[in-house]
Amino acid sequence: MPHIITGKMMLIDSSICMACKGCQVSCKAWHQLPAEDTSFIGSYQNPADLSGITYTMLRFNEVAGLTVLKYLEWLFFKDQCRHCVNPKCQMVCPVPGAIVVEPSGAVVFTDECDPSICVTRPCESKCPYDVPRLNEEENKEKKCDFCYDRIEDGKAPTCVTTCPSEAITFGNVAYIQGLANARLAELLAKYPNANIYPDVAMGGGGKKGGGGGAGTHVIWLLIDDSSAYGITSGGGGGMWP
Ligand code: SF4
Ligand code: SF4
Ligand code: SF4
Repeated sequence: MPHIITGKMMLIDSSICMACKGCQVSCKAWHQLPAEDTSFIGSYQNPADLSGITYTMLRFNEVAGLTVLKYLEWLFFKDQCRHCVNPKCQMVCPVPGAIVVEPSGAVVFTDECDPSICVTRPCESKCPYDVPRLNEEENKEKKCDFCYDRIEDGKAPTCVTTCPSEAITFGNVAYIQGLANARLAELLAKYPNANIYPDVAMGGGGKKGGGGGAGTHVIWLLIDDSSAYGITSGGGGGMWP
């Protein structure tokens, strides 16, 4: 039985992304977030991880032998909140109104988050995609908010409009799912392990049950299994029914 997802979806085509990090910068600018104090970690991946002041970042991984030519390929993954249809973070949150789901599907952490009530921060530990992080200055959990304020205003998220290679597409669910299926068919001709992540067979919710198995509003096209990208749940290879 196919899962019904309403609202908006975002497709990130990792095969097109050139890791310019324009999305990282525009996300910081729109949310007025400060820069990270970083150091070289032996990779162009910078910052090294998501944080309470970094809602999206590019993961860099190298793999060999994905095509018959056995080239070394650089795999880029734009990490961020998946905006689960049944978000685990909201299910475990003890503070009413601290996490809300907008009509667009955006899962938003609000100012109602109260660290005097919620001391164990289960939204961070229970997220199947390891997304929310503590903002130490505010002592509150933070993450990508799908730019819900822009969506309400009829605009796409700022990372979408900034991407120079058009690797990020935003729109209605049926349009994005159709686009993902068509692109996957093209990619499979070259990359036999290409897939839509999180796993479509699990409702786009990831093998660990992210999204309550009901799907996510953010999906990726990958040219290899999610483990090659340094991310945990997902994989698959199926198309939307
Ligand atoms: S702006 Fe587009 S091409 Fe640049 S890193 Fe982000 S997703 Fe990739
Ligand atoms: S990816 Fe994690 S933080 Fe984002 S909606 Fe899903 S459970 Fe919540
Ligand atoms: S949707 Fe908005 S908040 Fe989320 S990564 Fe893109 S720019 Fe940042």
